[in-house]
Amino acid sequence: MAVEQTWDVIVIGSGPAGAMAAYELAKAGRKVAILEKEILPRYKTCGGGLVFRGRELLPVSVQTAVEKEFNSLAVYFDNLPQPFTAQRNFPILSMVMRDQFDHLLVQEAVKYGAVLLEGQALQQLEFAELTAIHTQTEVLHTRYVVAADGVLGPTAKLAGWKETRKLIPALEYEVGVSPSDFERLSKEARFDIDAIPQGYGWCFPKANHLSIGVGLFAPKKIQLRTYYQAYLQKLGIYETTFEEAHGFQIPVGARTDGFSRNGVFLTGDAAGFADPLTAEGLTNSIYSGILAGQSISRQFDHPELAANTYQAALEERLLPELRFSEVMARFFYFLPAARNLLMPRYGQRACEILTDVFTGQLILSQDFKKKALKKLKWPNW
Ligand SMILES: Cc1cc2nc3c(=O)[nH]c(=O)nc-3n(C[C@H](O)[C@H](O)[C@H](O)COP(=O)(O)OP(=O)(O)OC[C@H]3O[C@@H](n4cnc5c(N)ncnc54)[C@H](O)[C@@H]3O)c2cc1C
Repeated sequence: MAVEQTWDVIVIGSGPAGAMAAYELAKAGRKVAILEKEILPRYKTCGGGLVFRGRELLPVSVQTAVEKEFNSLAVYFDNLPQPFTAQRNFPILSMVMRDQFDHLLVQEAVKYGAVLLEGQALQQLEFAELTAIHTQTEVLHTRYVVAADGVLGPTAKLAGWKETRKLIPALEYEVGVSPSDFERLSKEARFDIDAIPQGYGWCFPKANHLSIGVGLFAPKKIQLRTYYQAYLQKLGIYETTFEEAHGFQIPVGARTDGFSRNGVFLTGDAAGFADPLTAEGLTNSIYSGILAGQSISRQFDHPELAANTYQAALEERLLPELRFSEVMARFFYFLPAARNLLMPRYGQRACEILTDVFTGQLILSQDFKKKALKKLKWPNW
């Protein structure tokens, strides 16, 4: 027989967005459950490149889940003899495997009293005074719902949202290579912009293997596998010891019909918060999870105020950044001839600016455009 339980907040999904929302709510003393369809720790298709600004947002050390750290990165273009590189005196990119990383964050929320209900999938939502959440075996009741169920989760659709996110396909392989190839390729985190038209390839070294992938920034059908195989050759990999393929989607365009309604708050990939230029999604998942958790806990008795608080918080930084990145992405991926013309002159400075943005040293505020153009030494500056 189904067991009925009542909660202040139920968070659907235990990725970084869900874990951080639950952490904030539990810390504020709310009765919060995390509903997760898998049993943790679970694999998640992801390059696992956690940029510095995302890591800095976390309230706890995730060092035990970090397999490698890179204080530098390299961006390769086919028509240029050398990559653009950026160097900092802190890890620009920390490499994590998502099963360990996500689990660690969930455990932090659980430490503060959040309850993990794993192996339970949201199947149906019913709105009344309290919202009823139907899983395979249970009916749970809650005042608020945080949708943190990723790009393919059902919460937003069940709550009445239309699909307005821009979804792009990506293919990632966990790849074992020979000791000499690993030695050669594990020295840098690299991006190869011409590995695929209107996209890029990445090679992210982990403790004992490489995460290699290709992503396409245009929503069209394409043989990603063919580009992945060509990318292996470009990396000089002719033999692998194992290869695990994982295809997935990344939402690189935020929803256009709002981020909360009827006590349901969308976060992370469920909201479409991955960066339109880089497809980096971890930072905004963490950040939106924190913002949703704080907005609900601070305005718990006033759902409308909680929704307005969340929207205002997103407008402060996250949404303007996504809008700016979207403009940059249109130029970068859809005008490759113009891009390649400008790269020799502006590429290194653009690489530095993007590194500043993704390490949190440069905030994309209203006056960002001015600062960025000045730094690029664009004519008239
Ligand atoms: C190939 C690829 C490479 C990427 N590489 C990077 C990278 O290097 N760096 C980076 O920053 N970002 C990267 N991203 C993006 C990043 O993985 C996502 O933006 C991020 O995982 C989103 O986090 P989230 O918490 O919103 O959702 P997720 O991490 O997807 O978590 C959603 C959770 O919800 C659960 N769930 C789903 N449906 C239900 C249900 N019905 N009931 C209960 N639970 C449910 C899922 O099991 C999952 O645990 C990559 C994405 C892809 C596809």
